[in-house]
Amino acid sequence: MVEVVRENRGNLRYAWEVLTKGVCDGCALGVAGLHDWTIDGVHLCTTRLRFLAINTAPPIPDTLWRTTTAAGLGHRSGKELRELGRLAHPMRRREGDAQFHRISWDEALDALSDGIQRGGPDRAALFLTSRGITNEVYYSAGKAARAMGMASVDSAARVCHAPSTVGLKQTIGVAACTCSLQDVIESDLIVLWGANPANNQPVFMKYLYLAKQRGARVVVVNPYLEPGLDEYWVPSNAESAIFGTRFCDLHIPVRPGGDVAFANAALKLLIERGTIDTEFIAAHTDGWDELVTSLANQSLDDLLVAAGLTRYQVSCFVDEYQSAGAAILLWSMGITQHRDSVDGVRAIVNLGLARGNVGRNGAGLMPLRGHSGVQGGAEMGAYATAFPGGLDVNETNAEKLAEQWGFPVPSSPGYTAPEMVDAAESGALDVLWMSGGNFLDVLPDPKRVTAALARVPLRVHMDVVLTSQMFVPGPDVIVLPVRTRYEQEGGGTETTTERRIVFSPEIPREVGEARSEWRVYADVASRVRPHLASAFAWPTNQALRAEIARVVPFYAGIETLERTGDAVQWGGRRLATGGVFPTENGRARFTPLDVDARSHAIHDGRFTVATRRGKQFNSMVWKEVDPLTGAGRDAIYIDAADAAALGLSDGDPVRLTSNVGSMDGHLKLARLPTRTLQVHWPEGNVLISGATADREPQSRVPDYNALVTLIAR
Ligand code: SF4
Repeated sequence: MVEVVRENRGNLRYAWEVLTKGVCDGCALGVAGLHDWTIDGVHLCTTRLRFLAINTAPPIPDTLWRTTTAAGLGHRSGKELRELGRLAHPMRRREGDAQFHRISWDEALDALSDGIQRGGPDRAALFLTSRGITNEVYYSAGKAARAMGMASVDSAARVCHAPSTVGLKQTIGVAACTCSLQDVIESDLIVLWGANPANNQPVFMKYLYLAKQRGARVVVVNPYLEPGLDEYWVPSNAESAIFGTRFCDLHIPVRPGGDVAFANAALKLLIERGTIDTEFIAAHTDGWDELVTSLANQSLDDLLVAAGLTRYQVSCFVDEYQSAGAAILLWSMGITQHRDSVDGVRAIVNLGLARGNVGRNGAGLMPLRGHSGVQGGAEMGAYATAFPGGLDVNETNAEKLAEQWGFPVPSSPGYTAPEMVDAAESGALDVLWMSGGNFLDVLPDPKRVTAALARVPLRVHMDVVLTSQMFVPGPDVIVLPVRTRYEQEGGGTETTTERRIVFSPEIPREVGEARSEWRVYADVASRVRPHLASAFAWPTNQALRAEIARVVPFYAGIETLERTGDAVQWGGRRLATGGVFPTENGRARFTPLDVDARSHAIHDGRFTVATRRGKQFNSMVWKEVDPLTGAGRDAIYIDAADAAALGLSDGDPVRLTSNVGSMDGHLKLARLPTRTLQVHWPEGNVLISGATADREPQSRVPDYNALVTLIAR
């Protein structure tokens, strides 16, 4: 707390207003002021406190730009760049310039609209991050891009939960969490699958604590038993704060990529024991017989090898699962950032449907969102593969949207975020326009990303602070200062992980010439297509919200939100209540999923490395040492037996090499499945391939795992 006061000492009053009136710009659990919609008492965590400094920081002094070269700034770490303060003025750097120079907004927006017009909309792409961005901004960005004829608009929802969007739509007809956070508290069993809320959504641990108080059981399915999921100190409870609370009742140490095999093995045992919910399956689902046939053709032994588990371990899971009256299956990027991640999601849905764990009290399918903006980003249409409302990009939907908007809408999907890098690399992009984010940190193979960005004739980076990608040289680079969600004129909304659209009021603050992003998108669209200016002439963003309610009917109510705490949950507390699914025939669909055991065989001499998070938020690293694990940023987690087999010990310096790069680090002994490793992300991105073949084909999400050799240094 002392550190937070020190970081915000220049503007403590504003920090307090953000804390007490604003909707948290951290993760997607969501809280307005200091209270949420689930628990009594205060909802606050250190992640939110860390973000305060970005909201209260003073403007970057002009002298910095005059006295420091772009190369000098580019060598600083993300943390050092953030600490320089808030972007306050439009800046430009052309080829050959050593420094950025201040320009006017008019010059910047003319350059951007000229660039889009000159190269044409197919050679322009727009990406938006997820931290802090509001629904209003996503909606205006998606509409502006399409008005200009650009199909390539994508957002950070891509690399986190795009496979959940695909997998859930195919199976239950809706790409969202089916239950509420209240259901976690009322559940009998919570399965945390490839997720680490203790690090990423800390207040979730309070919900889990309350669930445990009621007698709920917790199963962790993950290669590593994260210490924060094993035992955690919930600060708002005196006993837990002092003595800690043991959360995990059963740990399933599945191999990276072994999730489908594990789910199939568990289903086989459920069927064998006759503990499936036959009534629910018959009344509310399709495809069960095909699934049973497919499972009958898969040997349990093969599945166990692929999952890296014993029959006893799977059996223990099934004991827990079949005896829970209501269970929540929750997953995150441990599932979604794999090459077969859509199958991973569908495997979890199979398991959920098999016992009717959808649409009733304490039960649900929960893709746990990491960032405050991601749910809205996809639902507002700032997505290369979806229009507002999450509708598929196709001719029928494009025509409907064109009628509502009053201009033609591109009917084919555009470049997704990883494909924007491909396009930049091959010279197919003239303009790359980015709102926040940092492709150098977020996408695989940073060397390749750097080279690709450098090829784009015009890059425009809108942000609140500096990031390293701004300093990648290029023919023409423009940096634009924008307002935070709190400063945004008229306030704004976010959609939380439980589908709650929540309002954050404007908390006025002027930072140099920073502008509200929804106005920037409207301005650029009006410059590129002057005859469409009236479609972007929202007098206030209240008018913008009213338009969202018209275009996305399930967001009805957003236009009524005005004050801190105002919220409307689309779909109500639960989706698919009574087993009625939003699919064409009202039934959910099981998916038979084959597992190729050979592809999961341990590769001789090599290790599978997975990328992990630690004391960070997205790619923003908060601490050099993760207090939950005690590991430094260069830690390479390895099982003690694997290290011993190599004659290595804790702390030994080693080098990992994949087919794209190398990473030096120090071993940290941990309990992991044999011949698997973990390294921190984003540092581990140097090992990850950005090739198309290494992405999940439907969602186009990179596989953030790699095969590596390990040698002592
Ligand atoms: S748990 Fe998430 S929503 Fe809640 S305060 Fe922390 S970062 Fe914000």
